[in-house]
Amino acid sequence: MLRALDTLAAAVFAPSCAACGRLLARGAACAGCLEPKPIAPPWCGRCGEAVTHPVASCGRCEGWKSPLVSVRSALWLAAGWHFFLQLVKHGGRFELLPDLWARALPSIGGPPVTGAEILAVPMHPARLAARGFDQADWLARRAARLWEMPPAARGLAKLADTPPQSTLTSRARATNLNGAFAWDRKTRPPRRVLLIDDVFTTGATLRSCAHALARAGCGEISAWTPWRVPRKFRTP
Ligand SMILES: [Zn+2]
Ligand SMILES: [Zn+2]
Repeated sequence: MLRALDTLAAAVFAPSCAACGRLLARGAACAGCLEPKPIAPPWCGRCGEAVTHPVASCGRCEGWKSPLVSVRSALWLAAGWHFFLQLVKHGGRFELLPDLWARALPSIGGPPVTGAEILAVPMHPARLAARGFDQADWLARRAARLWEMPPAARGLAKLADTPPQSTLTSRARATNLNGAFAWDRKTRPPRRVLLIDDVFTTGATLRSCAHALARAGCGEISAWTPWRVPRKFRTP
């Protein structure tokens, strides 16, 4: 009888994985849901997409009319990572982001470019005020520290409070952000920039930022994200 009660108590009170519900001895997620899936080469030289043999640009990015020269990501955004990142971004669970970063860290190699200043993809001020936390800015500061690269002075701004890209199809994503970003002309943009965002999906956000930076005179724009949505999960 006592053993049954013990089992019941453990089942009721033990923490469970927030993504799949599996019971855990400790922690918020099981190892399976947060198993890192690093993005291994070969990849497209421009957009960083996984390809069967190395290419300078692939079917995904050769139509990009963008000054964005290269994008790299560290990990595939598998279901467990997606679940927790959604909690961070849309569930107010900002305290989970340092843990996600720590779990991603062994898969994050050296800096994807050298001689650039790091710049986070900015949020619109109204959205930042509503959410109270800027995950891209947090990740950019962590990456700058990790790679011992200078964080750029602020200057890139989001002017339009556009619908979240995650709610749109790929086609709508491409036009949703037209003219959404601009450089604050009171300062000069760095000569070389490494843009940082949390997740790469279609690259529309990064391309829109790159246009704004190039218009302001930035010479070379690359980008990096810790996570990348696998192609099979992208909406058409
Ligand atoms: Zn799980
Ligand atoms: Zn490509």
